[in-house]
Amino acid sequence: MSINIIFMKKLAVLLLGLNFLLTNACNQDIQKPVRFMSEGQQPKNIILLIGDGMGLTQVSTSYYFNDKPSNFSRFNNIGLHQTTPIGAKITDSASGATAFSAGVKSYNGAIGVDQDTQAVETILEILSQKGLSTGVVSTSSITHATPASFYAHTKSRRMQDEIARQLMNSKVDFFAGGGRKFFADRKDGENLIEGLKLKGFTVDTTKLAKKGLTIDKKYGFLLGRDYMPKMENGRGDFLSKATNLALDYLNQDPKGFFLMVEGSQIDWGGHANDANYIIEEVKDFDKVIGEALDFAEKDGNTLVVVTADHETGGFALSSAKVRKQDDYRGLAPTFSTGGHTATLIPVFAYGPGSERFRGIYQNNDIFRKMLAGEPLK
Ligand code: MG
Ligand code: ZN
Repeated sequence: MSINIIFMKKLAVLLLGLNFLLTNACNQDIQKPVRFMSEGQQPKNIILLIGDGMGLTQVSTSYYFNDKPSNFSRFNNIGLHQTTPIGAKITDSASGATAFSAGVKSYNGAIGVDQDTQAVETILEILSQKGLSTGVVSTSSITHATPASFYAHTKSRRMQDEIARQLMNSKVDFFAGGGRKFFADRKDGENLIEGLKLKGFTVDTTKLAKKGLTIDKKYGFLLGRDYMPKMENGRGDFLSKATNLALDYLNQDPKGFFLMVEGSQIDWGGHANDANYIIEEVKDFDKVIGEALDFAEKDGNTLVVVTADHETGGFALSSAKVRKQDDYRGLAPTFSTGGHTATLIPVFAYGPGSERFRGIYQNNDIFRKMLAGEPLK
């Protein structure tokens, strides 16, 4: 190790210490998450695509049940992450997403808080403070565990009225998904649709805008009372359209952007042990991955990361049976549980910094890998 590197490491330790003192002196509420030393290039834009409940078998459906080539084949930097939360062997979507968003392992149900229920600053908040624009898109309620973990801090995922209030006051510049009832039909009787408008949001509860969003404004699209319909019930190209609308809008920011897009219902197909539900939701998600990659290829300075919080269903592409005998000529998917499983989860990365996603690591390392090229404050 050269003298120079030793000196740099000492300096980094000193700066980390200083950072710790400063953040503890002036910010009592929201903790700063642990960060790695700066490592390599930081992309201008980050697109994080989360397929809720999407294990390797769910990904595999895009090779067996789709006429189109799978967009997963377009990634070269691929890894695996372990999903174990605090206090359990198997994660839920709240602690799973909080690991990505805030870099901490927490307990099941935690939204943007650590194991002591203390709020931890999220990647969306960190990058927003650096002047980047931010967006969240989801096919569940926008207040559901996965998207909420990027902008809210609550001790329980069930506090969706509170999460809606926190979205109104958050650093999110663009959101699209379901969840209108948590804004318009609340236990406290308040109308947070009006609240969002007072906070500067243009809100639409009926349809996505076509185009023409301007970066000096904020936008919210609440298109389902609770969740968005499933693909089989006619959701159409909502996820694709919302993602492209977000990209058109966010890409106007010269400083860059952070966008999280969730294919929420892959998980629900797993809970329902319904293979067709999973297959159709993965197809939709695969299409959006392709569009994100098209954007990133054209842009040249965008990191795309695709992963899941956990696997759901213990899903297997099992062989068909003929008179109780395995028939390897056909597939008849099976499930081992109606819940989540602890299997390692694949990660696919493209763009500047994507090489950091090779290997096997913990779910909360994904937070650090996304920010590893950011200079420490
Ligand atoms: Mg989810
Ligand atoms: Zn689930």
